[in-house]
Amino acid sequence: MANGSTTTGTPHADPTGAAAPTTEVRRPALSPSRASDFKQCPLLYRFRAVDRLPETPTKAQVRGTLVHSVLERLFALPRAERTVEAARELLRPTWSELAEESPEWRELFTDPESADELAEWFGAAEKLLDSYFALEDPRTLDPEACELHVETELSSGVLLRGYIDRLDVAPTGEIRVVDYKTGAAPREIGEAKAMFQMKFYAVVLWRLRGVVPRQLKLLYLSDGQALAYTPDEAELARFERTLEAIWQAILRAGKTGDFRPNPSKLCGWCSHKELCPSFGGTPPEYPGWPEPDAGEESALDRAD
Ligand code: SF4
Repeated sequence: MANGSTTTGTPHADPTGAAAPTTEVRRPALSPSRASDFKQCPLLYRFRAVDRLPETPTKAQVRGTLVHSVLERLFALPRAERTVEAARELLRPTWSELAEESPEWRELFTDPESADELAEWFGAAEKLLDSYFALEDPRTLDPEACELHVETELSSGVLLRGYIDRLDVAPTGEIRVVDYKTGAAPREIGEAKAMFQMKFYAVVLWRLRGVVPRQLKLLYLSDGQALAYTPDEAELARFERTLEAIWQAILRAGKTGDFRPNPSKLCGWCSHKELCPSFGGTPPEYPGWPEPDAGEESALDRAD
């Protein structure tokens, strides 16, 4: 078992091993979002994790965060109360709390038509919730935890950190990792990234608990599709080596500041094109490798 391994989150029916908050000082770690960024484009990783340039979220991203929060709260209700009506009723109070924490999100709705715009936005969030209920009946489930913070150190010293949308554990001990996808990006673009993220969590759980998760399940709420995958130990061992190689490459680039752009069709989603040499821009001066943590994920990262 690795050192310094923790899990924290919103525990539900059986909180065993899932509710110990960590107070340790955070050191640099690899998260699935930042690892994906580096794989896609080292310069994008630098802009997000090292320069920490602000990004204005889209309404769809914020809606994703809202729907994730509503589903988390839904599972905190007694089983019988987890209805679609209850989920819809949670939308507005949950939005009020999120907007209180991140007031800049309210500024996404500032047109004269904003009341209509907001109503339409809530309507789209309701559709995502309806889509969730078409895929699962939450009254039949008792997750061990939602929004579970997980962290483990591999024997190579690489620290992995992330948040799992939902963890289901059967009475027989079999683990299922569930992730809700709420984004509007086409499946073919998001799917490889989503599977990378799920294998990342599978490695962390395998190292934390000594059990290979039985199932990695993606619930695509935009189109009502589910995708389930069963990893095996040899595959996770190979994936662990991939993560170690990514982290070593990040550290090498971090020392010199040599984070190169890697243009692709995904540049269309990049918020920093105007600073990118591949599009005629100039990046800011390299600020040096950040301490204590270059791997942090935001709520928006977790709700794609
Ligand atoms: S525009 Fe493309 S190549 Fe440039 S930083 Fe963004 S993702 Fe990388």
